[in-house]
Amino acid sequence: MNEQYDLDTLAVRAGSVRSQFNEHSEALFLTSSFVFGSAAEAAARFKGEQPGPIYARFTNPTVSMMEERLAALEGAERCVAFASGMAAILATVMGLMKSGEHVVASRSIFGSTVQLFSNILGRFGIETTYVSPTDPAEWQAAVKPNTKLFFVESPSNPLTEVSDIRALSRIAHDVGAWLAVDNCFCSPALQNPLALGADIVIHSATKYLDGQGRVLGGAVLGSQALMEGVYTFLRTAGPTLSAFNAWVILKGMETLSIRMEAHSRNALALAQWLEAQPSIERVLYPGLPSHPQHALAMAQQKTGGGIVAFELKGGKDAAWKLIDATKMLSITANLGDTKTTITHPATTTHSRMTPEQRMAAGISDGLVRIAVGLESIADIQADLERGLV
Ligand SMILES: *Cc1c(COP(=O)(O)O)cnc(C)c1O
Repeated sequence: MNEQYDLDTLAVRAGSVRSQFNEHSEALFLTSSFVFGSAAEAAARFKGEQPGPIYARFTNPTVSMMEERLAALEGAERCVAFASGMAAILATVMGLMKSGEHVVASRSIFGSTVQLFSNILGRFGIETTYVSPTDPAEWQAAVKPNTKLFFVESPSNPLTEVSDIRALSRIAHDVGAWLAVDNCFCSPALQNPLALGADIVIHSATKYLDGQGRVLGGAVLGSQALMEGVYTFLRTAGPTLSAFNAWVILKGMETLSIRMEAHSRNALALAQWLEAQPSIERVLYPGLPSHPQHALAMAQQKTGGGIVAFELKGGKDAAWKLIDATKMLSITANLGDTKTTITHPATTTHSRMTPEQRMAAGISDGLVRIAVGLESIADIQADLERGLV
């Protein structure tokens, strides 16, 4: 059904398969294995000659429905689901690369992704060079004869830097490498990296795809040929998405589009309001004309998204005072939830960096990140007003 329907329709209907009971809402199959009609059928399933589920490490109908739906939303030939976003990133490398190969990655990526590339994959002979998310020339200059993968998040966390996905995909393809985009901040409702030239899309489904802070999940999407290696890693190594989590995410996707519109509307209003506050040095939100890559963001994203970062003039003291004065906002590092969350990156998500590294990355002590939820914008502003001097 994928070609003829709009994204809003696909989010509600794509991937849905009914069982013998003709249930209207998608069923949750809590079973680890599946029964075959005969020895010959079992053999045909295992050989791949007959389609159908075998064992839930690599085939479960609820997980398959979630994969089909997300593939439809991203315009991908195939989606492979994982237990978490980090498992999806690991599987991308394990499924497609080998020891002795090289990654060029944005400097502004999720902290655990940096740890994975530098400390774990580094031990297995995969080397990573970090470059600016906003300067394609640095990516070109970092390429080596063994470069296999470009890895980027756009917009980045927490500074909302926007990378030129088309430009990076051209550079990657010129040197025979693949471009992978972690599309967590936008979700397919706001940005489709494959349509912009990327080869691989990665999701932490824990964020906007679930959208209500309930479960962990992840996914890798791309062509049939690329996903074959990723799927083989899943089938063999087993970082499998549970059927229950897949079901929650499947149902979460049905409201993705209207949630992303509402998150974005609230975030833009909040960003405009913050920009007018005298105690705030600068506001970083891709939907604001003052954002350094505003034009690029508006060309490749439908809206500015739900994450707003800003710098207080009073540094860390002012940031902590603001956070501690809130009564409704959740002080937590999670994002992509209906509930608004507030974070001080320098002392939480980015505290493992040295002060010099933080300075180089633009994570100042006065920086606060808000993942804007779906509460009334007036109540969110009133909660923040308490701590703004
Ligand atoms: C949360 C997050 C991840 C990791 O996802 P998990 O589901 O927590 O493993 C990866 N990338 C980005 C951008 C994230 O925000």
